[in-house]
Amino acid sequence: MIIAANFKTNHTRVSTKTYMDKLAAFVEKEAITEDVLVFPPATSLDSYHYHDNLRVGVQNAYPVEKGSFTGEIGLEQISEFGIKTILIGHSERRHILGESQEEIAKKFAFFAEAGFEIVYCVGEPKEVREKGIESVMAYNLSQFEGIDTNYENLIIAYEPVWAIGTGLTASNEQIEETLGELKKHVAKPLLYGGSVKVANTKEILEIKNCEGILVGTASWDVDSFCEMVAIAKRLS
Ligand code: PEP
Repeated sequence: MIIAANFKTNHTRVSTKTYMDKLAAFVEKEAITEDVLVFPPATSLDSYHYHDNLRVGVQNAYPVEKGSFTGEIGLEQISEFGIKTILIGHSERRHILGESQEEIAKKFAFFAEAGFEIVYCVGEPKEVREKGIESVMAYNLSQFEGIDTNYENLIIAYEPVWAIGTGLTASNEQIEETLGELKKHVAKPLLYGGSVKVANTKEILEIKNCEGILVGTASWDVDSFCEMVAIAKRLS
């Protein structure tokens, strides 16, 4: 299973170090073999290499080696820390920061070419969900435009926009149906994300075709995140 933490714009460099040390000690002590991914903010990136299955990734990067792109980071800055994992297509980047599918596809192609492990996010807004599964799938599949879904190092995160950071979780039936449909199109590990917390981790991880979770808010507390990793271990 894959258990991933997205810090978004939370944690400092110091608190990320404390978090990572605690998480690494937990992974070691509990002999965790699940893939545990952490996406801290860019200012907290560092050479965190504790275990092969505990990896730090970037929440975002610009698809260049280096250059004049004020405010962005490129491959050179990421590579300094030996980072080879990236989150692409998160709904906050699509809907709040205005990243287009074309830009996302360019980013995907660049980091795939560089051999990155890519966690690629798709998910529909509330008004689309209300129209039913056909609309949901048409919307989600449109988010694969320009994306090489055969890329070997690809993980898909299904994250309904209306469930992210809202406390609303998709129902188990909605998750199962959507993951089942996605699996017909993309033969890659599928994660669910959207208000996952300790209390619902087990039931979500037990859903057919759900191979892990991408957690925002509830991952910011290291003890909660460790508990989610422990639940995944108990289920494997
Ligand atoms: C996310 O940011 O990917 C996410 C799922 O956030 P939250 O868990 O807060 O809904």
